Amino acid sequence: MWYNSLDEALKKEFGEKLYKIALRGTATCPNRDGTVGTRGCIFCGESGSGEFAEPADQISRAKERIAKKTKARRFIAYFQSFSNTYAPVDTLKRLFYPVIEREEIAVLSIATRPDCLPDPVLSLLTDLAKIKPVWAELGLQTANEETARYLRRGYRNEVFLDAVDALSKIGVKTIAHQIIGLPGESWEDYRAASEMIARSGAWGIKLHLLYVLRGTDLETQYRSGAFRTLEKEEYLRYVTDLLEYLPPELVIHRLTGDGAKRDLIAPLWSADKKDVLNSLARMMREKDTTQGRLYVPQN
Ligand code: SF4
Repeated sequence: MWYNSLDEALKKEFGEKLYKIALRGTATCPNRDGTVGTRGCIFCGESGSGEFAEPADQISRAKERIAKKTKARRFIAYFQSFSNTYAPVDTLKRLFYPVIEREEIAVLSIATRPDCLPDPVLSLLTDLAKIKPVWAELGLQTANEETARYLRRGYRNEVFLDAVDALSKIGVKTIAHQIIGLPGESWEDYRAASEMIARSGAWGIKLHLLYVLRGTDLETQYRSGAFRTLEKEEYLRYVTDLLEYLPPELVIHRLTGDGAKRDLIAPLWSADKKDVLNSLARMMREKDTTQGRLYVPQN
């Protein structure tokens, strides 16, 4: 089964595989500090604690770790946790410029919320994108507004669509996140979210399994029996079915999600990432994907 993987896309664009270095940046989120909400998204396990070292130190340590396993030469600097454009522009400049200007950094990838892209931030991203490729990762998670309210996502779908459009116009590629297995959702919801992402103009997609982390409000609901998590076979079936509908040009960045093992409550099968990916590869080999791709008109 063929799909447009990130590795393939990177090899085409950069001639080699790039390795990701996860960095901690602004460590803030409007869905936690009271601007949009105070309790965050229902599944969010970010505690705000953890590594607060300078990005330069984080990069050096990550490079040492990666060098033990590979001969990687160039990297994607990935500001992963929290909403990394939610800060004064001067703070963001001090954060991003020293990173993007490093020789070994090939791409700057910034995870944020679509409601954290005011004009001054877009202007900064425009300037950064003139130096090297810049990606923005946005968590749509679902296209079902009712589920989005349940998740306490804190913005409507239009905000996501407008953000992808604004980012495309300044040459920043968007990667949208979608969660499979959200309480109350079914195949139609998964397909609708994938369709929304495909039609939005996003360049890539990350598919995640819903998992329950210790200390989250989702854990409380899970323990009360309000919902169940997906079985492995169910998840893999949804993923392979979705791949049939996604347009071939959409780059698939991720096919599974795995939370920190020490905090994982359910489903426990998701802790064995190798097994999940092997099972997925097996299921893909069995599928014929020449039919049924979602048709997305090109502008
Ligand atoms: S937007 Fe991200 S960091 Fe903020 S609460 Fe939601 S998942 Fe957590």
